[in-house]
Amino acid sequence: MSKHIETTCVQGGYTPGNGEPRQIPIIQSTTFKYDTSEDMGKLFDLEASGYFYTRLQNPTNDHVAAKIAALEGGTAAMLTSSGQAASFFSVFNLAGVGDHVVASSTIYGGTYNLFAVTMKRMGIDFTFVSPDCTDEELEAAFRPNTKAVFGETIANPALVVLDIERFAKAAHAHGVPLIIDNTFATPVNCRPIEWGADIVVHSTTKYMDGHGSAVGGCIVDSGKFDWMAHAEKFPGLCTPDESYHGITYVTKFGNGAAYITKATAQLMRDFGAIQAPQNAFLLNLGLESLHVRMARHCENGLAVAKYLSRSDMVDWVRYPDLPGDKYYELARKYLPNGSCGVVSFGVKGGRKAAENFMKHLHIAAIETHVADARTCCLHPASATHRQMNDDELRKCGILPELVRFSCGIENAEDLIADIDQALAANR
Ligand SMILES: *Cc1c(COP(=O)(O)O)cnc(C)c1O
Repeated sequence: MSKHIETTCVQGGYTPGNGEPRQIPIIQSTTFKYDTSEDMGKLFDLEASGYFYTRLQNPTNDHVAAKIAALEGGTAAMLTSSGQAASFFSVFNLAGVGDHVVASSTIYGGTYNLFAVTMKRMGIDFTFVSPDCTDEELEAAFRPNTKAVFGETIANPALVVLDIERFAKAAHAHGVPLIIDNTFATPVNCRPIEWGADIVVHSTTKYMDGHGSAVGGCIVDSGKFDWMAHAEKFPGLCTPDESYHGITYVTKFGNGAAYITKATAQLMRDFGAIQAPQNAFLLNLGLESLHVRMARHCENGLAVAKYLSRSDMVDWVRYPDLPGDKYYELARKYLPNGSCGVVSFGVKGGRKAAENFMKHLHIAAIETHVADARTCCLHPASATHRQMNDDELRKCGILPELVRFSCGIENAEDLIADIDQALAANR
């Protein structure tokens, strides 16, 4: 039965049997008991599915991952310990030393660093392209060893809306999948798979958890990418894995499950970046109200953006739902019900004025966090993006006066009054 997304938010991923717990049980167990060594051997050979060690898989996590897979319209999903781990696995599951990936230049600062510095040290090359580049520029970014394209639905904090369809077409023309970080939009506001994305990643730390209580990540596979049609590019999926007695993931598990099974069997086994079952339980509580909260985040975001766009103490406002915004048209296409609660704006007077404004806020707290029920804000140039030089900052759309203001689900009039009095401190 196909259900509306609201129903999936509340009930997806877990259906208790007669007399079983109504809420997803927290399976607080590192290990699982078997009657015979043969039973266990089958699990290690990937001959049978089941749990044996929580470093790889845990039932609590799998219920919550199944809910997120249903929300995104995917065929399989896994939870990771953080959004960073999800981004890393999503690429490393496809690319290794000598390979290359095309990424949008406006992606989250942490992802940029992961790609441009850490994964580069692993021998994977990245070409960063502007999300607004021409088709020719996008085309020119591909190489024979390109293995994936990576972008964000709504870039954090630049609030650039990616033309997902265009990037998907380019990726597919080169026989590689499009990976989309859908953290800011959430599946409530955009389902990238419907626009051609093949793999979706999340920092569940943000709106999905929504209450600032647990760091986590998720990877969802659409099941749509035909790996065998490009077998020479993806030997990890299309040729035998010697660490599992020569099974070939795509042959054994099909397009719907091969990618997530490989990421679980190899990457979770070797890196162990699993989400704690306790955190998965908290994440699920957040997911149950995601649809209700996203609507309020968007309502508050638009009210605050409209107020800011009328203020003479503000140089510029970036919010995709604001008429006249550079990404307004793309937002109407990909985010018809609203984008997110995050508004970026430039405080008149530059870096010092931005810092002074933030000091005078009472309701909005200064936090290295975003997309939370409580309103918070950040000055990226002195926090998340401080490892970048001015040139790199400008390239990813960050100016020194930029304040990233994450509207929570409080009353919009209270948020505006708080901003109003803090901006007045700059007069
Ligand atoms: C926060 C964030 C990440 C990283 O997630 P963590 O859970 O902090 O590791 C990745 N992508 C986006 C868009 C984010 O906002």
